Amino acid sequence: MKLSAFGQKFTADAGITSLMDDLGNAMASGDDLIMMGGGNPGHIPEIQQRVREILVQLSQSDADMRRLVGVYDPPQGEKQFISALAELLRREYGWDLTSENIALTNGSQAAFFMLFNMFGGDYGNGVHKHILLPLAPEYIGYADAGIDADLFHAVQPDISFTDAHEFKYRIDFDAVEVTGETGAICVSRPTNPTGNVITDDELAQLETLARRQNIPLIVDGAYGTPFPSLLFTDAKPTWNEQIILCLSLSKLGLPAARTGIVIAAAPTIKALASINAIMNLATGSFGAMLAEPLVRSGEILTLSRDLVCPFYKAKMQRAVAVFSGAMADAPCHWYIHKPEGAMFLWLWFPDLPITSLELYQRLKLRGVLVVSGHYFFPGLPEDGWNHRDECLRVTYSQDDERVAEGLRIIAEEVKAVWVEA
Ligand code: PLP
Repeated sequence: MKLSAFGQKFTADAGITSLMDDLGNAMASGDDLIMMGGGNPGHIPEIQQRVREILVQLSQSDADMRRLVGVYDPPQGEKQFISALAELLRREYGWDLTSENIALTNGSQAAFFMLFNMFGGDYGNGVHKHILLPLAPEYIGYADAGIDADLFHAVQPDISFTDAHEFKYRIDFDAVEVTGETGAICVSRPTNPTGNVITDDELAQLETLARRQNIPLIVDGAYGTPFPSLLFTDAKPTWNEQIILCLSLSKLGLPAARTGIVIAAAPTIKALASINAIMNLATGSFGAMLAEPLVRSGEILTLSRDLVCPFYKAKMQRAVAVFSGAMADAPCHWYIHKPEGAMFLWLWFPDLPITSLELYQRLKLRGVLVVSGHYFFPGLPEDGWNHRDECLRVTYSQDDERVAEGLRIIAEEVKAVWVEA
């Protein structure tokens, strides 16, 4: 099969493809694996019950059923959801926006593909612009989203120690360079894979840098604020026309509904809708219609705050307690990134005698699936920084007993590595 440059780039062995294949094959092997590798949200019974009620209501009305499955939405997305969301955000946060500032996409992943290629890549006349990731490590799902190669420039973080076995990454603003070749800045908040939440102050500094160069600051709020609020620290919901805020219904509990939400200046939304029309004709209505009553009433904010956030916070606390207990007699240094949000523990073993990929393989043989940390540094030049081969991402969203068992096995295996060294 002969393929174009596009065809070749998107069928080459992308990090995310091999990772998803590996996880998928391991799962399909039928062995009793402990799955701590993916980003699937947990199942919160109260959320599922509320969604079921809405689905039943929709199914009982002929008009709603027609809208649910029988009508193409405009390329900007389902109108009633968009207008309810604009109203909610104006009312709750005083954001100066209307329906013209919101577009829906088939999952926020699709939004990132469109946005990165709208603002990064070839501008003609030999000008190529990159997307700046000011804080590595960052979400692996960005890594291969550029139509052009080398779309991302990432910046190594400052590391500060926040407790005996806890550290935190902070943006090294001395090393962040926003130039005429920067097309946009992007940061996930909370960050996948680390659970870091950049502070309000860091966000404001990034916004200033973006404003100076008149480029957008893309904030990936897939886990963040105002919903689904997998946040265990304060983070102010922030939007203005300099910011492109990307939200998602996935981590609220609706990943299969594939609903991403982009909040941005009206010209950006118009451009996104055009690209969306070409790529998808329309965005699916399902997620928007299921969530619309929750948005109209504001319940989406209370569910996020009172159910989703405590659900993950309790899981995080249990996971930290189990891992800390299991590592109490470890013969090595070990750290957990300060878990401020999302659904991951980011474990760091300084001077790990093997690579994190080898550790991942040893854990897989023991029936525990995690993700090697080295995947999460897209756009960071190869600079011999050992740190990127010393970390693991561990998802704690699934059943507590299984997560605890998995964490004990990780601790055993790490200790064994040191004994062998
Ligand atoms: N952003 C981050 C940081 C993620 O972790 C994910 C998925 O795991 C996404 C975006 C994409 O999510 P979705 O396409 O389901 O909205």
